[in-house]
Amino acid sequence: TLSDRLADTFKNLRGKGRLSEADIDATAREIRIALLEADVALPVVKEFVAAVKERARGEEVSQALNPAQQIVKIVDEELVEILGGETRRLRYAKTGPTVIMLAGLQGAGKTTLAAKLALWLKEQGKTPLLVAADLQRPNAVNQLQVNGERVGVPVFAPEPGNGVGDPVGVARASVEEAKRKLHDVVIVDTAGRLGVDAELMQQAADIRDAVTPDEVLFVVDAMIGQDAVTTAQAFLDGVGYDGVVLTKLDGDARGGAALSIAKVTGKPVMFASAGEKMTDFDLFHPDRMASRILDMGDMLTLIEQAEKTFDQEQALKAAEKLAGGKGDFTLDDFLEQMQQVRKLGSLSKIMGMLPGMGQFRDQLENFDEREIDRIQAIIQSMTPAERADPKLIDGSRRARIAKGSGRQVSDVNQLVDRFFEARKMMQQLARGGGMPGMPGMGG
Ligand code: GDP
Ligand code: MG
Repeated sequence: TLSDRLADTFKNLRGKGRLSEADIDATAREIRIALLEADVALPVVKEFVAAVKERARGEEVSQALNPAQQIVKIVDEELVEILGGETRRLRYAKTGPTVIMLAGLQGAGKTTLAAKLALWLKEQGKTPLLVAADLQRPNAVNQLQVNGERVGVPVFAPEPGNGVGDPVGVARASVEEAKRKLHDVVIVDTAGRLGVDAELMQQAADIRDAVTPDEVLFVVDAMIGQDAVTTAQAFLDGVGYDGVVLTKLDGDARGGAALSIAKVTGKPVMFASAGEKMTDFDLFHPDRMASRILDMGDMLTLIEQAEKTFDQEQALKAAEKLAGGKGDFTLDDFLEQMQQVRKLGSLSKIMGMLPGMGQFRDQLENFDEREIDRIQAIIQSMTPAERADPKLIDGSRRARIAKGSGRQVSDVNQLVDRFFEARKMMQQLARGGGMPGMPGMGG
């Protein structure tokens, strides 16, 4: 897999600084091969690899991740971005039935998908109507009826001797039927051809004009690989669509088509269909597809773990410092450590990562980060001697410190009280109370 190959590429690379140009080139080669193997179209591969190289150049070598992991993370983020980032939801009509029209080549999986989508909608409390507007193939209407029956959704079909041969008329009539029978979603199945042709496009465009769909979905077989881009572009020009549905993802295809189509057309992939069963259907998840395309699921799990562990180590280090442990904890330490903790994120979040810190959570929950700036101003108005030994800070000194920092005497009082409280807490922690089993904390 790509993950393994990248790990090999980076076997010798360790340490700080930036990734070298040679390392980035080696990586780019591997990514390029992996994308081509996943059937991503060449122009898309080129552009993608260039973008990743650019980003890798600007990035420091991470302390949490090894270089292979770091590059995979960049690649993953870029892939997810192109695939649409967030999962795109269906748009429903504000009034009247929502009309969803399916378009795509013959064999793409439209009729199967129509029924899957109907079932999916039904499970969400919708009352869909399936519409057989594919009158091209003799068996097409029957196929939809069979599928409709499997999922328990009615099918609107031309009656014998009525509307036969006029898919546009059938589609138009179906919307009226839906209004009468109070169906809230209409799913229009249309005819496809084996290849892109003008007549097909015209028919689809006529149906579109007749029913003014809320969503036109382009249905494409993930197995057709590179051809998917040409087809997607032809349908975009000929009919236009709002989203893409990938079918047959249960096959060998790694889904490079998803990336190519999303990149070339700028349209989001909305649903994924992966099997012959009516329930083999789901919203499309860009993050899952990204890891599938580059076969890097395992690596991504490792990355997540590595980052989490790293965060925890940082938090532990901060806590150890906070704890001090020797009782010579000064106001300077107090300030420095607050600043360090702030760098790591909010106090309550950091404390939340530490075992046994629950008891301090409440105190920290309402911690105002700007408070650190105010504390800093006050502490910096103290003399070094006062900072080292806060017991020296008597009434008159407090007044002077307040004046020097532009705060009230009560603020200074509060800070000094807080410091003594914190010192007490640190000493408790250092003795091991409250932090069971924490390494390096004594106990
Ligand atoms: P249409 O011509 O676009 O309406 O495509 P169909 O719905 O008739 O599907 C064509 C063939 O692909 C049928 O044999 C379906 O059973 C099969 N098919 C559709 N979707 C999937 C899928 O997600 N996975 C698999 N393995 N087969 C599928
Ligand atoms: Mg069909």
